[in-house]
Amino acid sequence: GIRYDIVVIGGGAAGLSVIASLLKRQPDVKIALAEPATEHYYQPGWTLVGGGVFKQADTIKSMSSLIPKQVSWYQNAVSHFAPAQNQVTLTDGTCLEYRSLIIATGLSLNWAAIDGLGDNLGSHGITSNYARGLAPYTWQLVQQLKQGDAIFTQPPMPIKCAGAPQKAMYLSCDHWQRQQVLSNINAQFCTAGAALFGVADYVPALQQYVDRYGIQLNMQTNLVAVDAPNQTAFFKQTLADGSSKDIEKRFDMLHITPPQVAPEVIRQSPLADTVGWVDVYPDTLQHKAWANVFALGDCTNTPNAKTAAAVRKQVPVVAENLLSQLNTKPLRAVYDGYGSCPLTVERGKIVLAEFVYGGKVQPTFPKWLVDGTKPARLSWFLKEKLLPPLYWYAMLKGHEWLAAPQYRDDIPSDRHAKPSGNS
Ligand code: FAD
Repeated sequence: GIRYDIVVIGGGAAGLSVIASLLKRQPDVKIALAEPATEHYYQPGWTLVGGGVFKQADTIKSMSSLIPKQVSWYQNAVSHFAPAQNQVTLTDGTCLEYRSLIIATGLSLNWAAIDGLGDNLGSHGITSNYARGLAPYTWQLVQQLKQGDAIFTQPPMPIKCAGAPQKAMYLSCDHWQRQQVLSNINAQFCTAGAALFGVADYVPALQQYVDRYGIQLNMQTNLVAVDAPNQTAFFKQTLADGSSKDIEKRFDMLHITPPQVAPEVIRQSPLADTVGWVDVYPDTLQHKAWANVFALGDCTNTPNAKTAAAVRKQVPVVAENLLSQLNTKPLRAVYDGYGSCPLTVERGKIVLAEFVYGGKVQPTFPKWLVDGTKPARLSWFLKEKLLPPLYWYAMLKGHEWLAAPQYRDDIPSDRHAKPSGNS
């Protein structure tokens, strides 16, 4: 195998940010990146593309323009992990050997779990802001719809940016209200969950918008199949007594949020937990079995909100701990589970959910400036004007503004059953 200090798998929000952070801390470290895609996506922008605020092109940059020159880029996916040998194999057969490994593959959208969907996504009024390139179709459908049934779905957790299914719905309803057609549109939210949002503090503000737009809520109602030509969706609703009921609904517009799973290559590897996510300690983000393996972003089993906001706080933790491990020093940096979800409740206003492990609310700004539990104009300004440049020019470049990790000196040094493999 070709040998590197660090091999990074995935050049998304997490992979590119952690590379920048590592190079800032130790510029001579030898890094390889495995990433098959030629384009990098700013996915948090897709909600605003679907709402007619951003253009799709604003959310895309070429991968080559974002990867630092001193990094060896292998334009292939990893197809096999061999942590006991400190090796990964790529789809073209290339074998990379590492002293430390970082896994940042993101998650997989499981479209196949929805029977009958096939290649009907993007036609028959069926759309998803989660699908690469389809947010413009959402906006097209929203503009065209003058009456009828609009259904927005949400699958069982975990999903990335748990608020995004609702964001699409509120922005659509806001447009219909401004066009004075909302009274002719029956908007419905069908969620597999039992609550509107996982952190209770934000529910009252969201419920106000549900009422304002006259949205019909269908809780514990999970999309299982579609008949695209007949514009009909099929749901399984769980009832109070635990039994379930089949429900069929006609639609003119259907915004799907698909079930989300760990990537197959991770599920099949020894690095996965029983469900398939990369099995790391929630504080240090170090793998529970292999000390020289770290993971961050959507692919891990840490119980935070899967968001780019979480990635921003995880990056310095992984960078510092990995370099400590590589230089045989104790690990000290810890991640508190921060995640954020800017809920676009109307055009121009956002309910800014920010919380850490355990669903504990943790705002970045003082309450007099922004009260996250109330819709606020400043939060919209943050989302539309500040967060995109913060992403492209700070996070992806290793500038860690407001992202300093916390430190602990009592992290057990004997957490690992297996040797690190470092030589
Ligand atoms: P990704 O950014 O998805 O990147 C994963 C990368 O790994 C990809 O480049 C992929 O090509 C690569 N890869 C996959 N498999 C392999 C393999 N086998 N080998 C090599 N490379 C591989 N977050 C927020 O903070 N705020 C928001 O408002 C927000 N809104 C969102 C709205 C929508 C509609 C969506 C879809 C997401 C939203 N998010 C939001 C979530 C955010 O985009 C993700 O949490 C973030 O991108 C996670 O980063 P990641 O690097 O883990 O995964």
